Amino acid sequence: MIILKTPEEIEIMAEGGRILGGILLELEHMAQVGISTKELDDVAYEMIMSAHAKPAFLNYRPTGAKRGYPATLCASLNDGIVHGLPSKRLLRSGDILKLDLGLRYKGFYSDAAITVGIGRISNELKNLIATTKTALDSSIKEIKIGKTFGDIGFAIMQTAKKNGFSIAEGLTGHGIGKGLHEDPYVLNFGEHGKGEVLEEGMVFAIEPMFIAGNGAIRELLDGSYAAKDGSYAAHFEHTVAVTKKGARILTQRPNLL
Ligand code: MG
Repeated sequence: MIILKTPEEIEIMAEGGRILGGILLELEHMAQVGISTKELDDVAYEMIMSAHAKPAFLNYRPTGAKRGYPATLCASLNDGIVHGLPSKRLLRSGDILKLDLGLRYKGFYSDAAITVGIGRISNELKNLIATTKTALDSSIKEIKIGKTFGDIGFAIMQTAKKNGFSIAEGLTGHGIGKGLHEDPYVLNFGEHGKGEVLEEGMVFAIEPMFIAGNGAIRELLDGSYAAKDGSYAAHFEHTVAVTKKGARILTQRPNLL
């Protein structure tokens, strides 16, 4: 069941989302050659706590998982797609790093992700990152009352196809609110006009995950997911609300003046 949010609840989610956007921006600046993802994780934790929010992923335990997630940040490197554990491994030139972060603020969750190229990366990787970002932007442009989740998925799928990238199979976005993962699944593929119709008050996380090789994925022992063929992957995510005026991005990053 999709839980609709009131305009007041969406305002709270936007407040939390702005905090999240600001933290991700700071982490992006810090993600340079020679720093570890563990250091980024520590900063993410401190920044969330000092904003009077709570980390969403720390101790999060999806149904069926044996133990809770042990960190604040998901930091997935190179062929890693999602749920990568922060570690002491230092970032190197040529890495691509996916930073996925969620927080809970005044009872509501927000969730967002970015991909950052470290040092000098190849043009192909630059294109993979830019294309995944474009897919997120173009799917958000589809959002309008009366359109469908199929329209969102179609926009993502077309962007991948046109650029020769694959969609990571089996990984999706999700509804979000008082729960980190609510209905529905937000698929990264779809058909125009198919699927649930978008209604005012729906809030969900859209998260295209593209792989430079084929779309098959594997789950590692630590619970993270990586591209099966070892190709590099990119991921972008925003928490978005459906409003009368169309999409409202709740995890907007602060304007750089
Ligand atoms: Mg998410």
